[in-house]
Parts: sequence; C-alpha cells; structure tokens
Amino acid sequence: MIGQDKVKEILLRTLSRKRIPHALLFHGPKGVGKEAMALELARAFICQEDELYACNQCSDCHRIAHLTHPDVYFIFPFTGKITVDEEKAILKSVVDNPYMRSNPWATPSISIEQIRQLKKESSLSTFENKGRVVIIAEAHLMTPEAANSLLKLLEEPPSKMYLILTSSNHMALLPTIISRCQCLRFDPIEWRDIAAALTQRASVEESQANIIAKISSGSYRRAIELLDEDIDNKRTKVLDLLRAIIKNDFERLLAMEELVKSEEKNEIKELLNLLLLWFRDALIYIEGEANNSTIINIDQIDILDKFCHSFETLDVKRITDEIETAIQLIDRNVYINLIILNLFYRLKHNLRRK
Ligand SMILES: [Zn+2]
Repeated sequence: MIGQDKVKEILLRTLSRKRIPHALLFHGPKGVGKEAMALELARAFICQEDELYACNQCSDCHRIAHLTHPDVYFIFPFTGKITVDEEKAILKSVVDNPYMRSNPWATPSISIEQIRQLKKESSLSTFENKGRVVIIAEAHLMTPEAANSLLKLLEEPPSKMYLILTSSNHMALLPTIISRCQCLRFDPIEWRDIAAALTQRASVEESQANIIAKISSGSYRRAIELLDEDIDNKRTKVLDLLRAIIKNDFERLLAMEELVKSEEKNEIKELLNLLLLWFRDALIYIEGEANNSTIINIDQIDILDKFCHSFETLDVKRITDEIETAIQLIDRNVYINLIILNLFYRLKHNLRRK
C-alpha cells in the first residue's frame, strides 16, 4: 500500500479485535488506493496464517492474488457488452495494479444483474473459511435497481459476508446505503509517498518522480498517467505562454490562437492547471518558504526567481482566481476561444513589469 497510514491503522485495529463490520465504505478521490486497500484487507482477513498481515505464501493468499478465490468476489462497473474473457482481463489488470483502470471503466455502470448474480452465488455456496469478502468498486455507479437490490442485502447481511464498497463520489450513493456502512475516508496520498512508489515500482529517476508526485494531486493513478504525458514539455509550454502573455498584444494573441488551434480541451485545461501550479510556486517563493519540498517546479527555480522579481506587484491570489475561473468555464463548455482571450487579457493586466 502507498501511504494511507491513518486508514491502515484503523483497519489493523479492526482486524486485531476480529470485529470486521459487515459493510465498509472506502471513499475518497480516484487513484488513492481504495481498491488496493480492499484487496489487501481481503487478503489479510482470509489468509490462513493468523497474523494481521497477509502472509502472501499460503494457497489462500495465492488464489486471492489471482482473483480465483471463491471467498473473494469483485464487482466493478462496466458497459453492457463485455465478454467473459474481457471481464477476466480487467480483473487481472486490477489485481496486477489496483491503482490503475482499464478502458471499460470509462462509461460504465453496475447493473442489477451483477447484484443478482452476487446474491445467487452467496446463497448457494458455503464459504470456505472465515467468510466471503465482496468488493464493489465505484459503488455509486450502481443503477437505481442495483442499488435497491444491494440495500436489501445490507439490511439483512448473510452471516460471514463482508461487503467493501469503494467510491470516488460517495455522495451519489443512496443515503440508506451509506448509513449501513462504516465509512472510511481516503485522503490524497502524500507526495513523498507517491514519489517513493514511482522510484521503487516504476523506476522513475528521483528528481522526475518528485515533480510528477507533486503534480499528481495525491493520486498514484494520475502520477502513473503523467509518466506517459511528457510533462516537461508541457511545463516548458506553460512558461512560453507566460512569456507571450507578458510580452505584447501581438505575441499574446498569437499564443492564444496557437493554443486553441493545436490543443484539445482537456490538454488546455491541463496546461492551465500547470500554470496554476506555477503561480502556487511563485506565492511560496515570495513568502520566503521555498525549498525542495514546498516548490513543485524546483528544477526551474532560477526562472521562478527572475519571474517573481520582474513585476511591480504580484497579486498571486487574484491571478490564481482568474485561472481557476477559466478552468471552471471550460468545464461548463463556454466557448474556449473567449475563455482564453479573456484569461490572457486579465493575466496581462495583473502582470505589470517593473
Ligand atoms: Zn496467506
């Protein structure tokens, strides 16, 4: 597990008292390890060794690692047209790296059939050992019928059945479902933990791992995605944009034209997010708090220094408000050329050179 020490501690206490609630809800942002923790808990609970941690040696641990254990049941959202082989492939990818998601997860739901199947199998089989652990990933994606069907199960949980729901949007769950679960909140992962995982698991060089970890907003999944995104190139692009915005009207309009012509909406949003992080760094720098752990763009510290000393005043709060508004407007599908034109104008207005 990457980080999540607080949750780990609570779960270890629960395990040591042998008082596992019949229904748990792991909620928090995407990519912070909710499914990974659910699988780890299932392993620790079912493992033949009577220790708090799974031994990863016994046959139960092995079967859970391959998701072939009859007492671990994994439900995840997918679109209607999925073959058995595809389902297996997705399950395998989840076990191989519980932080990642493959494509069918994109526009999915959890159907009533999936819950019915769970109920049917649960009533037929006698569980091998301590009980059955059922993991329902992104449970808020249950259709209303599926949610109502699950609710009935939660109202009278079969003995020895333990449900773990995960959700990155738990407020979309039925309140009656939430109230029957013991809820555990997963916070974004500390950037240092993400950086360590990137260097150890993905062999990323340390300085690069640090930058990506800080940009990932505490999501290990996002960090892994960022590895493929040529983030250095994007950070350079952001600086080029800033230079053009400050330079003159002509350069500013040209940069705007180039940006909206060559980049997709999501790409533009990402660049604006990187721009936000730049100003976040600027604020920390101005306040004299700059060091290796507070500054994201630490490799660009010389440019940052020059930047912060170039303006009469630097109202970072106001500037970040402007950028955040622009990002919100993009999400609301406002005409993107107008958003960027307006944003660049306002940035220029707020960035007056000495
Ligand atoms: Zn074991």
